[in-house]
Amino acid sequence: MADSPLPLELLGVLKPQVPDMLRVLRRFVTSESPSLEKAAADRCCTVVAKEWRKRGANVEPIPQKHCGDHLRVTFSPDKSPSIGQLLVLGHYDTVYSTGTLKTMPFRISGGKAYGPGIFDMKAGIVQALFALQALQRAKLELQKQIVFLWTSDEEIGSESSRKLIEMEACRSDAVFVLEPSFGPHGLVKTARKGVGTAELVVQGRASHAGLAPEEGINAVHELAAQLTRIEKWNDTRRGISINADIVEGGTRANVIAERARAVLDLRALRIPDMRSVERRLQALRPVHKGAKLKITGGFDRPPLERKMCAALFARARSLARQINLSLGECTAGGGSDGNFTGALGIPTLDGFGAVGGGAHSDHEYVLIKAMPVRAALLAALLATS
Ligand SMILES: [Zn+2]
Repeated sequence: MADSPLPLELLGVLKPQVPDMLRVLRRFVTSESPSLEKAAADRCCTVVAKEWRKRGANVEPIPQKHCGDHLRVTFSPDKSPSIGQLLVLGHYDTVYSTGTLKTMPFRISGGKAYGPGIFDMKAGIVQALFALQALQRAKLELQKQIVFLWTSDEEIGSESSRKLIEMEACRSDAVFVLEPSFGPHGLVKTARKGVGTAELVVQGRASHAGLAPEEGINAVHELAAQLTRIEKWNDTRRGISINADIVEGGTRANVIAERARAVLDLRALRIPDMRSVERRLQALRPVHKGAKLKITGGFDRPPLERKMCAALFARARSLARQINLSLGECTAGGGSDGNFTGALGIPTLDGFGAVGGGAHSDHEYVLIKAMPVRAALLAALLATS
């Protein structure tokens, strides 16, 4: 396998396709698709679906009530039955509301293409589309069925797509997540922190701060004591972070605070650390006599541990070498849908999408020359997994 010129052959097919890739990219980006605007998102979904149908894939929209329909695209090898399945995962929703194109139009300048959601992650969908086309044109015989799942609610937590993602992942031998890569060299994300939110509410007792201070139980003091304790759980080296990013409490300067609360951002790199943070939160007991604590929430996305990516990354890196690309890796502090698939024990390679920058900002862009390269790499992985 190591000497196979496959990625080079695929790159040869893809390089002349760049103008076509940009045409499709323009179509995708100019169909605005905010997670929270169903009608607009559905229009984008139709545009995306059309491109996959054109290439002979089986396209199945999965209707949704509140967000855009999810899109399940399947491509099966000629000889049946196929043995196994590969999942290519991504989302077509963006964080930009409709009308953003007026101030942030699709444009090409200096080898970069700009536009809302272009890097996160419409260019990833384009790369996957052309990866499939390259496999068809190179007449490669696929061993496995490929499922491409394009969801509509990743940017708002994947509530409506999580079950679908997990169901497809469970049937798959590997998952490739086409979220943006990191930095100018396009590092793949081989680990992602698990992410969650918890709320800590303290119930004390109000009293006149001057006339009867001894009758009060100060909820703000109690909260401060708990936060001092919680702060010590931070461990940068292990990738554990707990931050109280919202705090509030009390009513007036001369009333002992009856209630206080903190909202905590939780992050951990390993599943045992995630569990330990959740356990410790639940085990918190009041410091001040009579105070009551209520803790809710926890991790929404488990960590994507490196061990779930290691073998796939090694293969991707060796394929990349054949096109003179040195593929690097990094750890991401934020989660994606890859966190769900990795937590199920399915090998997952994340951040395998476009190379670019400025995600979720007014200068979001992708590097055009990296598009055929990344598409060739994906195609090579799909053909050999
Ligand atoms: Zn994304």
